Amino acid sequence: MRKPLLAANWKMNKTLEEVREFAQEFKRKLPHGTIGHVDIVICPVFVHITALSLDHLLPAGIAVGAQDGHWEDKGAFTGCVSPAMLKDLKARYVIIGHSERRQYFHETNEMLTKKLLAALKAGLIPIFCVGERLQEREEGRTFKVLEEQMSVLRDVPAELVPDPSSFVLAYEPVWAIGTGKNAAPEQAQEVHHFLRETARRHWGAERAEGMRLLYGGSVTPENFSSLANGPDVDGGLVGGASLDSQKFLRLIEILTGK
Ligand code: PEP
Repeated sequence: MRKPLLAANWKMNKTLEEVREFAQEFKRKLPHGTIGHVDIVICPVFVHITALSLDHLLPAGIAVGAQDGHWEDKGAFTGCVSPAMLKDLKARYVIIGHSERRQYFHETNEMLTKKLLAALKAGLIPIFCVGERLQEREEGRTFKVLEEQMSVLRDVPAELVPDPSSFVLAYEPVWAIGTGKNAAPEQAQEVHHFLRETARRHWGAERAEGMRLLYGGSVTPENFSSLANGPDVDGGLVGGASLDSQKFLRLIEILTGK
């Protein structure tokens, strides 16, 4: 049985005060015992990781993640943060390959491979994002594109993924991110099944069967029950709806019942 996972991607949002307000309200309202049923991770901007992890979330059993991580431990990479530094701040997860990073920062498969290897070596859990653009789906190229994005796994040796919970995959159709248009539950399940099969080819049945696969793209409390219903959908990677603690709590409640 896979434990559901809900990950919040806050992107470049919230002031320090807003982060603290969210954390206080969220902890107060999170029903007792939830963490036994659902893993929760919140990924704020780098500069808010410490405030969120040490002051608020870690004592409550909620994990903190980063939205990106470099492949080197240290060096002349202005503006970047290394996996070792993220570990230092008590981050547990790191999002890698988000479509906004691929699009605006031109991250390539080669860079993403290096980032995945570095994150795993540092003991972080990557949330590796893949997803097709609208035109690619309309041209019937969805699976070809996903296959190409997933090819980076070929260079990630199975030994670096010691157990299924040490790697998370997220299917985020680019046309669904922040657009209000979510994938149909059948589309999400079809892709998740494909991703699990691909992971199986690379890393074997045991890891693939136990690995969490998240759906991301305009998740809301209204559409999440049906999206999360797919047998290969183990949770969500949520942008907009995760900024509001009420909505995020509602999504957790939905997953608790999965
Ligand atoms: C995301 O950025 O990962 C995301 C899924 O955003 P949204 O939920 O706002 O579509």
